[in-house]
Amino acid sequence: MPREGPSSSPGPGRRRRRPAPIPSADLALTRLLRPLVRPQLWLVRAPRGVPRRPEQLLSHVGGRPYAEGAADWPDCTACDEPLTFLGELALPGPAELPGAAPPLARLATAFVCPECVPELGASEPPGRYAVWLADDPSRANGRVLVPPEDEPNPVHPCSLRPAPGRSLPGGAELKSLSPEAAERLAALDRAIVDETFRGLVGAPFHGTVASGHAPDLGDGADPTPECPSCGKPQAFLGALDGPDLEREDEEGEPAFGEEALFLLYTCRTHPGAARLVAHAVVPPEPEERD
Ligand SMILES: [Zn+2]
Ligand SMILES: [Zn+2]
Repeated sequence: MPREGPSSSPGPGRRRRRPAPIPSADLALTRLLRPLVRPQLWLVRAPRGVPRRPEQLLSHVGGRPYAEGAADWPDCTACDEPLTFLGELALPGPAELPGAAPPLARLATAFVCPECVPELGASEPPGRYAVWLADDPSRANGRVLVPPEDEPNPVHPCSLRPAPGRSLPGGAELKSLSPEAAERLAALDRAIVDETFRGLVGAPFHGTVASGHAPDLGDGADPTPECPSCGKPQAFLGALDGPDLEREDEEGEPAFGEEALFLLYTCRTHPGAARLVAHAVVPPEPEERD
């Protein structure tokens, strides 16, 4: 039996100390949540030492984006400055992730305006950001887009490697999928909830993700945008996480803040209406210009 802490064995005549109680998973909540577990593809940064030149057709942050058709580098419609390229998510289908739903696209490319990003909400149409979806990305169908000169990208180029896992819906999504489970969740102690989740999906993980459920934002907010064409809630594509979006000049300093998360969505019927929702983005420091 594993014991709590590096305690020595109790000496003769000494009472054994009672270990701190370990919260046990809630069986009723486990039963309600089990059918909602989905395969998830986390994306983890390639370890240092691995060549960092990202491959355009695979998941990566920073560097150069993949473009199809006549697409040119997008500018922000609010401030006219070029958008910042965040990264690309190679979205998995059942072939890469058994049990996953058929993908709504194979590659999602995301740009955002670093100046206007704090104003982005779930109802913001593209303009201060851009999300491009490609169904059949290949060297024959597209090209690598070169960033405008004099526009250093604050995101350090880095490849992202897939790590399969499991996910559960976040608080807001859970209310629509299982009101019963949401109610049960609200009534329980946080430690028991965490233990229940750990039993179903493994250790909680925050990071960049392609496919699965949208990460729980922890504040009950529902970031799901409505499709402008049909009004239905859009489907989650993936998320780019702040700590993966490092600045090139400041080691370890995320360009958009530790808590920043960029969530990508699209409509199953109108995939051209892809949206980016920014969460908890730290406004950029005002820069001194000469
Ligand atoms: Zn802007
Ligand atoms: Zn739609």
